[in-house]
Amino acid sequence: MTSFEVDSNGFRSGFVALIGRPNVGKSTLLNKLVGKKVSIVSPVAQTTRNRLRAIITTSYSQLVMVDTPGIHKPHHLLGERLVQMARSAIGEVDMALLLLEGSCSPGKGDEFIVQLLKNKNIPVLVALNKWDLVKQDCFNNREEEYRNLIGNSDWPIYRCSAFTGEGCRSLLEALGQKLPEGPLLYPHEMICDQPQKILLAELIREQVLIKTREEVPHSVAVSIERIEEIDSSKNTKGSKVNVAILATILVERKSQKGILIGRGGTMLKAIGQGARLQMQSLLDGKIYLELFVKVVPNWRSNASRLKELGYESD
Ligand code: GDP
Ligand code: MG
Repeated sequence: MTSFEVDSNGFRSGFVALIGRPNVGKSTLLNKLVGKKVSIVSPVAQTTRNRLRAIITTSYSQLVMVDTPGIHKPHHLLGERLVQMARSAIGEVDMALLLLEGSCSPGKGDEFIVQLLKNKNIPVLVALNKWDLVKQDCFNNREEEYRNLIGNSDWPIYRCSAFTGEGCRSLLEALGQKLPEGPLLYPHEMICDQPQKILLAELIREQVLIKTREEVPHSVAVSIERIEEIDSSKNTKGSKVNVAILATILVERKSQKGILIGRGGTMLKAIGQGARLQMQSLLDGKIYLELFVKVVPNWRSNASRLKELGYESD
């Protein structure tokens, strides 16, 4: 472990809810701030399913960021659970970071979220993300549009790009300063509160979403059946661990199973390769990954299945 000095004088800590519409870049921002991939990212909306706490510790503060599924209109049981989780996250935190899509003008969904936060009466900091996509001569206008959206509240506005990292440091400092004085809540080396199994399953789900795009939309879940550490003394490449992972991908229809496996197994192979690389950087070692695909009709509407896969209602 590296040595770590905490300045206990004036140290600040607390919980921050990360709030925003689907696809504004919540997961990308978390990964940027943490410095490792703890939340999956994809161009498909509603990627984040579980509530994830990412922990960011600096010498002067510790932020426990609660990533929430984007707030949207629910269409089925899974959708309802996602919105429930996001709403209840707002109730349990010291402050909220409202992430908005700086690259376009505010829309109806944004008004809904602003109102939800105003009703909660907690400190809010606003970040206009994807600022790398805004043309310089639009900077002031765009910020003004969002100032009008939040109206008479005293929420400070920051500009950032979770993609390039620009503005993220100032944002982190501002968040730290807004938290109450308090001790370390988690060990400083901890970056995430989700069990390893969930993080690994999410990396596989991410590859499915990226590689199949719209063809196999949200009817996919991943279950990690086994994680086995292999004797690393036999490891010649100098990596720290060797791990064998066995996982099942659940889909709702036979046709989706076909797409996931692909011609001659090419799709499943590509998914496995992508996930394996991500897992290696998360676990800092060599990974052997074996994937299976299983059809379970209507798993999304089945309460006990949802619970089994970690989408608890609380
Ligand atoms: P979430 O649904 O809010 O968690 O959004 P994600 O983090 O999954 O990001 C959605 C998409 O936006 C992904 O394709 C990201 O690569 C992209 N994205 C996120 N932040 C930025 C940013 O600051 N700039 C740009 N150009 N793209 C971004
Ligand atoms: Mg997300």
